Amino acid sequence: MITNQTALVTGANKGIGYAIARGLGKEGFTVAVGARDEQKRETAIRSLHAEGIEAFGVALDVSSDVSVAAAAEIIERTTGRLDVLVNNAGIAGRTDAGAQIPSTLNLDVLRTVLETNVFGVIRVTNAMLPLLRQADSARIVNISSNMGSLTLQTGPQMAAYAPSKTMVNSITAQYARELEDTSVIVNAVCPGYVATDFTGFASPRSAEQGAVIALRFALAPDDAPRGGFWDDAGPVPW
Ligand code: NDP
Repeated sequence: MITNQTALVTGANKGIGYAIARGLGKEGFTVAVGARDEQKRETAIRSLHAEGIEAFGVALDVSSDVSVAAAAEIIERTTGRLDVLVNNAGIAGRTDAGAQIPSTLNLDVLRTVLETNVFGVIRVTNAMLPLLRQADSARIVNISSNMGSLTLQTGPQMAAYAPSKTMVNSITAQYARELEDTSVIVNAVCPGYVATDFTGFASPRSAEQGAVIALRFALAPDDAPRGGFWDDAGPVPW
């Protein structure tokens, strides 16, 4: 049985999720690498091991109840504890043929995006909360986007993706209220516009830079704020 503090990162095989997993590993966490594709998962774990990071694989498709329940069992069996959960897995959804322009919004695209970005966060959080509640001090970090800010309304029109992140922010606040008297601290963060597959690498900002704000809240002290939405510059207006 591994006794280190344990962190689960969803969508940890690449991009910002991998950078968060690596960052937590360097802080001494045993990292549960949540990824749906076995080969990508194993490749990520090999890279983490090569850097001396304790990591193990967790088959995890956040859109599947069965997969998420099995993932919780794997963590229970492997480390018997969970101290940090980073809900990072997310998709933009198709944008072809006006699929994310409001007046032509493709409802199947909306459903698919919500299934991963919103229901996925709730599904994983609820499956992991029993373990998180047992920790002396636990953190949940939900990876959101300032595209979900009703105030900022940044980025291109993405009528499935942007509302999905607005919901992530709202759900974060809901969990924070439910957990306000516990040692589980929940926050949402925006990584900024980051060079990953998600953006076609169309940004000078690295995944490591994008991971910084998530790591800050994953490692936040016991008196850290709860239920907020943050980026590198501080609180993000909702
Ligand atoms: P990537 O596309 O590089 O990585 C997304 C990760 O999520 C992959 O590991 C992918 O797995 C995984 N994933 C997608 N769907 C599922 C699923 N159903 N179950 C499990 N894993 C899944 O994107 P980023 O690293 O850029 O994005 C990470 C997060 O950051 C997302 O939530 C995104 O919305 C958010 N974000 C990103 C920004 C950016 O500029 N890049 C800006 C603001 C927010 P697989 O490899 O199998 O597809």
